[in-house]
Amino acid sequence: MAPADATRGTAPGHDPDAVSGPPAQVAVLLPLPLSDPYDYRLPADLAAPPGAFVTVPLGGRELTGVVWGGAQGGVEPARLKDVVAVRDTPLMPAAVRRFIEWLADYTLAPRGAVLRMAMSVPAALDPPAGRTAYRLGAKAPTRLTKARARVLALLADGLPRPAVDIAREAVVSSAVVRTLAEAGALQILTLPGERAFQAPDAALAGPTLMPAQSAAATALRAAVAADAFAVTLLDGVTGAGKTEVYFEAVAAALAAGRQVLVLLPEIALGAQWLGRFRARFGVDPAEWHSDLGQRARRETWRGVATGKARVVVGARSALFLPFAELGLIVVDEEHEPAYKQEEGVIYQARDMAVVRGRIEACPVVLASATPSLETVVNAKTGRYRTLRLPTRHGGAQLPAIEAVDMRETPPPRGGWLSPPLRHALGETLADGAQSVLFLNRRGYAPLTLCQACGHRLQCPNCTAWLVEHRFAGRLACHHCGYDQLLPEQCPACQVPGKLTACGPGVERLAEEVQTLFPEARYAILTSDTIAGPRDAAALIAQVAAHQVDLLIGTQIIAKGHHFPMLTLVGVVDADLGLAGGDLRAAERTYQLLHQVAGRAGREKRPGRVLLQTYAPEDAVMQALVSGDREAFLEREASARKAHGQPPFGRLAAFILSGRDEAAVARAARALARVALAGAGRDSGIAVYGPAPAPLALLRGRYRYRLLIKAPRAVRLQPWLRHWRDQLRLPGGVRLQTDVDPYRFL
Ligand code: ADP
Ligand code: ZN
Repeated sequence: MAPADATRGTAPGHDPDAVSGPPAQVAVLLPLPLSDPYDYRLPADLAAPPGAFVTVPLGGRELTGVVWGGAQGGVEPARLKDVVAVRDTPLMPAAVRRFIEWLADYTLAPRGAVLRMAMSVPAALDPPAGRTAYRLGAKAPTRLTKARARVLALLADGLPRPAVDIAREAVVSSAVVRTLAEAGALQILTLPGERAFQAPDAALAGPTLMPAQSAAATALRAAVAADAFAVTLLDGVTGAGKTEVYFEAVAAALAAGRQVLVLLPEIALGAQWLGRFRARFGVDPAEWHSDLGQRARRETWRGVATGKARVVVGARSALFLPFAELGLIVVDEEHEPAYKQEEGVIYQARDMAVVRGRIEACPVVLASATPSLETVVNAKTGRYRTLRLPTRHGGAQLPAIEAVDMRETPPPRGGWLSPPLRHALGETLADGAQSVLFLNRRGYAPLTLCQACGHRLQCPNCTAWLVEHRFAGRLACHHCGYDQLLPEQCPACQVPGKLTACGPGVERLAEEVQTLFPEARYAILTSDTIAGPRDAAALIAQVAAHQVDLLIGTQIIAKGHHFPMLTLVGVVDADLGLAGGDLRAAERTYQLLHQVAGRAGREKRPGRVLLQTYAPEDAVMQALVSGDREAFLEREASARKAHGQPPFGRLAAFILSGRDEAAVARAARALARVALAGAGRDSGIAVYGPAPAPLALLRGRYRYRLLIKAPRAVRLQPWLRHWRDQLRLPGGVRLQTDVDPYRFL
């Protein structure tokens, strides 16, 4: 249990030493973009050890921070302000404070900004208000109706219950409860208001594991029992049953009295995952993600702090929850780019999960069918251990993957589906099975062009084309959310009726499918066609129940879903992710297409995957078709090694932005000069840029980038910090630092 007594000794006069020595002083870190804690005086009647949540005055208001240690000095004692109150919340565990320090140091973020992520629900610091409950009273009711008798029978076990629970369980109205209480037949009392988290039952039997699963589960249980930091890569093909395997590790950690954190990339779509957790452990886990309401977040944060919540499944921000007894961290789909947080404090949650595991001295499991090159290299060098699940559960075959050469079998004019894919779709429909069409493009068309003057409709705030959303009748920018009606005439040459949609989006594919197969029941699944997690779950359930023949979607259909009747996956534009010079373009395209392909043929019926490509000879297409992942990874690794790219070298980026382009450019040049002079010749550090970012204008701000590259042995952070500190940023220009960048836009 967490050290719950932050407030012990808060009553005046309890601490005999408090009156004798000099007044105590503490350093308090505040959840603001500040790097250092501030000193405060601690009145003699308050006790606040490191980790205590305290309320302090700052610039005319009061806010809550965390005692970070003893005072740093430097401020005249007479000028120090007093700590106002110590909050009634368990101490922030030392491991969490160390994690905040570590992450701030690595990412160059102010410590206070990282603390803010760990205190994202201020209301959780208030002990919840009590709830009114009832138990049997001393008097018998004067008149015993059937309803009243049911209430008395229910409460005969002596357990106090809130009125709503009594009403539900005894099938009476709450008025019956009130009347009984007024008559003295029930006694009113106040229960502590914390949500009662149901304990997952680690003793429930899981499914019978296949031999490979069973061996992997044994190894993971041993890692949990060892109670030490160790990273294991659970490397299993899609449909191998990785979830069931790491559930065994979860069960072992629970049985050992420890808390568990499971990170998922797209929690909003985790309905199938939650169902499986419920089947294995009998209850729901605590959830943590941005779609939750304030109340649920408050309850989960507090439940984690008090140790009442035993398993949390969450998005990357769950890493900052105040676990006091963490015994296992699982990162599912560890290769997912969604683990990179790109706003505010920029960090890679998979890497930081490993850091948290090291600080907590607990095992970390990374699961994937397509592990990232970073993880693969760590496994090769022996830093991580690898457990393999080479076959699908239940003997299902991996799908056969074929490339469709679009140069040889192009789609008919105005269409996007090639004859081989059309044929396969028709066959699958006739078979009564399901198909997926994958295209990573929302809306109807990615570009609208005037055929009279060649003008392209562009976002006024961003370097981006406006995307047509035909169902909504609008043009939208996917970067800033700008949107407008589709105009009648070209805004440049005023000629009417000449604006034409160029290229396909999922809506346009739906149109083609409708014309080709009018009888097929189709659905579109993208982040903007569904209103939220509930909607998504409903659609997923419909597909699973085979109320949909053809699912058309973007990358959100790639993740984790298990549809028994799905046998055909058509990738409409397999080359899409390869454009642009991103160093991970090939790796990411491979991972994404492999995951999408992995949706096909997960049960008895074999799966088939068609990749429409103009470059079937490309290494990514070859690797997908041949299934030779190892050869592909080795090629990738040696190419990256040759160029000193991650994970064999280090990268960091500075991004400067502002509304005044000249000021941004000047600041970027100044920073480049400082960096070039500072790095010198012998450091091995190279500075590239500044250059206007590919996304040169974003939300009305001009952007310039610098890229810093260094050999792996060089610790970049001290250099970056030193350069940054020498720069005097003009007002209105913002500088972001991205250590280990994943996006180069
Ligand atoms: P992965 O995450 O490796 O792609 P899943 O964990 O989703 O694979 O498993 C694929 C399917 O097989 C799921 O429906 C899962 O419930 C089922 N499954 C996996 N292992 C077993 C088992 N040992 N017994 C019964 N069903 C299993
Ligand atoms: Zn825009």
